[in-house]
Amino acid sequence: MLPNFAYVRARTKQEAFDNLSTDGAYVHAGGTDLLGCARDEIFEVSRVVSISGLEELEGIVVLDDGRLRIGALTKISEIADSPLIRESYPGLAQAAGDVASPQLRNQGTLGGNLCQRPRCWYFRGDFHCAKKGGDMCYAVEGENRYHAILGGDPCYIVHPSDTAPMLVALGAEVRISGSAGDRTLPLQEFFVLPDQNLSRENVLQPDEIVTEVLLPKPSGFLSSYRKIRERGAWDFALVSVALAVRRSGSTIADARIVLGGVAPAPWRSEAAERALIGRQPSEALAEEVAAAAMAGAQPLEQNAYKVLLAKGAIVESLLAL
Ligand SMILES: Cc1cc2nc3c(=O)[nH]c(=O)nc-3n(C[C@H](O)[C@H](O)[C@H](O)COP(=O)(O)OP(=O)(O)OC[C@H]3O[C@@H](n4cnc5c(N)ncnc54)[C@H](O)[C@@H]3O)c2cc1C
Repeated sequence: MLPNFAYVRARTKQEAFDNLSTDGAYVHAGGTDLLGCARDEIFEVSRVVSISGLEELEGIVVLDDGRLRIGALTKISEIADSPLIRESYPGLAQAAGDVASPQLRNQGTLGGNLCQRPRCWYFRGDFHCAKKGGDMCYAVEGENRYHAILGGDPCYIVHPSDTAPMLVALGAEVRISGSAGDRTLPLQEFFVLPDQNLSRENVLQPDEIVTEVLLPKPSGFLSSYRKIRERGAWDFALVSVALAVRRSGSTIADARIVLGGVAPAPWRSEAAERALIGRQPSEALAEEVAAAAMAGAQPLEQNAYKVLLAKGAIVESLLAL
């Protein structure tokens, strides 16, 4: 059952900021994650601030300088179905199409997808784990088959979003607004690892909201998103691979490789990118790149399989692209 909370429908961004500045206040976009967290009392929710009336946060539009602006309230299904995105950023359309189920994609928003909380069963369960202020990450010695193999210490959640790794690979920026003003930063810098902030997964201040995501003007990058999950129906990624690659003649001129399902934040592997750039694509190179991406992996007792899955998915994705 949902606990009692105050419900505010913000009519302006300022009204949202003002209402978010108290403890226990949370943004409500599509509500597909927030209301589950409130019902399960994962954290205390005393005020729900709906931003769904802020029309300026909606829509997909090409800006005068050629960049693509996707408003934070844009539904995941709109991103998956957008002819513009399918044409110019196909990896993003694939990633959005891989999110959850049709119903959740019709209700869930891009901002909510980037800011959703982790799915770790200790965090979501009745455990006072490190992320909730306790003194240990239960995954270290507990059931850890779905947990992080990279960047985990001291908390081994994996970031659940499918759109986030692909947007990072595409070089997206995120625009944030709050009482102190607006700021724009590379999406890669939006996410934080547990050793930077144990209780949060991003840099948002309590009274800040994500307003939009900006994608660079298409510049010859090919992109793809490959998600490996346990079931064919809706499921979170065990491992996912977001690739953005630009060729020049027979060599790879530029590349970004970002992994999902393996770390507490979308995991950009610069070692793998270095192994790829300036080289001619081949199966041997794809295997070398995959090995570079997994060189630093530190699996827990039950999740070493993710290293093999990630390597295989990287090889497959590179060869397919
Ligand atoms: C059964 C199920 C399966 C799922 N499977 C997948 C999956 O396979 N892949 C995947 O990527 N996701 C998956 N999800 C997550 C789903 O995509 C998210 O729930 C959805 O994208 C969140 O969007 P929302 O608008 O409903 O967010 P809300 O529930 O409204 O918000 C989620 C969180 O983000 C915050 N928030 C929302 N918007 C903003 C904003 N603009 N600025 C700042 N903070 C904000 C909220 O305060 C809250 O903490 C699944 C969810 C469910 C319930």
